[in-house]
Amino acid sequence: MKKILFVSHCILNTASKVVLYNKDEIEAEEELRLKFLNKAISEGIQIIQLPCPEFTLYGPRRWGHTSNQFDNTFFMKHCKKILTPIIDQLKEYLANEDFFEVLGIVGIDGSPSCGVDYTCFADWYGSFECRQGLEDTLSSCKLIKKSGIFMDVLKEMLREEGLEDKVKLTSLYAPEPEKCLNIIS
Ligand code: SF4
Repeated sequence: MKKILFVSHCILNTASKVVLYNKDEIEAEEELRLKFLNKAISEGIQIIQLPCPEFTLYGPRRWGHTSNQFDNTFFMKHCKKILTPIIDQLKEYLANEDFFEVLGIVGIDGSPSCGVDYTCFADWYGSFECRQGLEDTLSSCKLIKKSGIFMDVLKEMLREEGLEDKVKLTSLYAPEPEKCLNIIS
């Protein structure tokens, strides 16, 4: 029986990520990413890559955003569109449980899009040039206990298909490494 895991795009392709991100956070995430992937590959798990909603909408030179900025109809419609073929694949693997075991979906905590347990939250908007107190605005960004917008849409699509109890969602998050490592064992 083949075991299958769906993962956020940048778990396999870090080139999709926002550049110039916090160096310590990148290094901690990279260490866990490699550990997670080595474990998954050495245990023969098949890995399906979700699309990256931000790269496919804003490209590689995008700013870092907060989940508030993506909490709008247009971003959610984009997520739904790129997730539709993924949900089709997921349904087909689940429908053939004599051949396949779907272990779940692994997101990226902290991301405004792919966070599962945590996402970044702040009331960001507008241009930088005329803003008073830019430092205060930047430092108002907090990690909160909530999914990112892409994962919100994914959860809603799973609910619509009646699959919410059949698919486990967890995330890669350096301060809580067991979450992504445990889904493999
Ligand atoms: S949007 Fe998701 S897949 Fe894309 S870089 Fe961010 S966390 Fe990774």
